[in-house]
Amino acid sequence: MTSDSSLPAPAHILADSMLSRHFGRETANYFSSSPLNRLSFLRSDHPFLSTALKHPSTRFILLNNLAPLSRSSAELYYAKHEEVAKLVPQDIFDKSEEDMIKSYDSRKTHPTLIFLGLDEGQKAGGMAWKVYTGTPYFAVDVTPKGSEEQTTAAKDIIGAMEAKGLSFFQSRIITTFSADEAAIYAQSRALTDWNTRNTFCGTCGNTTLAVNAGTKRACPPTDLARESEGKSAERPACNTRTTLSNLSFPRTDPTIIVAVVSADAKRILLGRSKRFPPGWYSTLAGFIEPAESIEDAVRREVYEEAGVILSRVVIHSSQPWPYPANLMIGAIAQVSDPAHETISLEHDPELEDARWFDIEEVEEALRIGTSDLSAEAGPDYKGGLRLPPPTAIANQLIRSAVQAEYFAAKNSKM
Ligand SMILES: [Zn+2]
Repeated sequence: MTSDSSLPAPAHILADSMLSRHFGRETANYFSSSPLNRLSFLRSDHPFLSTALKHPSTRFILLNNLAPLSRSSAELYYAKHEEVAKLVPQDIFDKSEEDMIKSYDSRKTHPTLIFLGLDEGQKAGGMAWKVYTGTPYFAVDVTPKGSEEQTTAAKDIIGAMEAKGLSFFQSRIITTFSADEAAIYAQSRALTDWNTRNTFCGTCGNTTLAVNAGTKRACPPTDLARESEGKSAERPACNTRTTLSNLSFPRTDPTIIVAVVSADAKRILLGRSKRFPPGWYSTLAGFIEPAESIEDAVRREVYEEAGVILSRVVIHSSQPWPYPANLMIGAIAQVSDPAHETISLEHDPELEDARWFDIEEVEEALRIGTSDLSAEAGPDYKGGLRLPPPTAIANQLIRSAVQAEYFAAKNSKM
């Protein structure tokens, strides 16, 4: 196991239990294990949200076209309410959610505002609500868009922040924040992106309204804007209002990612795509399809991409991946018969190459050949295999797959 301080610590780290004795230490992946208590059951409680919004300890994560406002590439900036007041009126939650829906007017646009949770590790000066005490966190989308008023306010905020020497950190994938900040950023990014993509109802095509503090979108039954066109405010019927429907909830797209071990447990199957730098290989991955189990998806992807037939599949750990809404479900799988190890790239030509690597070579690459996809290999790298960094679940899967003890504990059960 890596001692990288950018990785979250498993919640049970000091706890002894039958499960931890049997299965070992849990792997907590980058972007997971947020320090915030999400308090999801309070997202429609406007007295709570209103108090949180007005509390002096409250902090805001700002995103501009999904790039987070940051002090540096290693640190987020947490804004105070006064710094976002032009976009986020303090009385925004004074109305009940029911009244917000009833008075919906599609001409009035609002930035996406998401309640992320309470940091109960920051109790001093924090907000107290029932049994919960801590610092409330929100994310706010400051991308200039919407009505002219909203666009101007967003531009003003961006200008004021940049004048302070802060910037919106542009990076295809961010892996430079601490573990806690990475988790807060991941939640902010995933939900802001989902709201941006769902401004129209997937069932009736009309505009939607963010409710539940930015974690649900409603298709309001009326729109006051229609009255200005001489129509009734009533919109056409939409079954998202009457039936239990997941159309207006944020999606998470499950993806499998797998470290494949040979029948003799001495080699690991890795593949590379054309976009990887020379020598760089990783675990195989792909989307889980509708009506497919995680284990079925692992077996299908490995067969389609590499022609290898798997037997037992064990779920190892998972990683939220907010680009845009994936949950990487990490597995370790083994081939039971050497005849099933033959590689074929003929089925689905997604990979440029797939190959079995000896465990010694993989261990060496874990020591000296890991880096971000776009970064140079470390100073000790002397050619040969390169692998993803510890912030990627692929690295954690490979690390476990080469550890003899990971298998030894379960030999009788495989
Ligand atoms: Zn609708």
